[in-house]
Amino acid sequence: MAGRVRVWIEPRDACISDMVCVALCSEVFDIDEGDGKSFVKVEWRLRPDAVSEGEVPEELRECVKAASENCPVDIIHYKAREE
Ligand code: SF4
Repeated sequence: MAGRVRVWIEPRDACISDMVCVALCSEVFDIDEGDGKSFVKVEWRLRPDAVSEGEVPEELRECVKAASENCPVDIIHYKAREE
């Protein structure tokens, strides 16, 4: 079975809204128009109201990795989950 990749934004309050993660990985991340902070798109969330965490397919690992490595405040984390 294909692996999944867990992704989370922590602490989300530290997001400086520069949109780097959205530019590099719009499949997974977007910016909330209300508070201006990044979130994990709803289709990847484990719970609809848990905006800062989710699980994505292996195919999206590289874009999550790019976002994580380039986030200026280092708040994007990810970990592979084998099934
Ligand atoms: S790259 Fe980091 S600081 Fe920039 S919008 Fe995304 S989570 Fe926020």
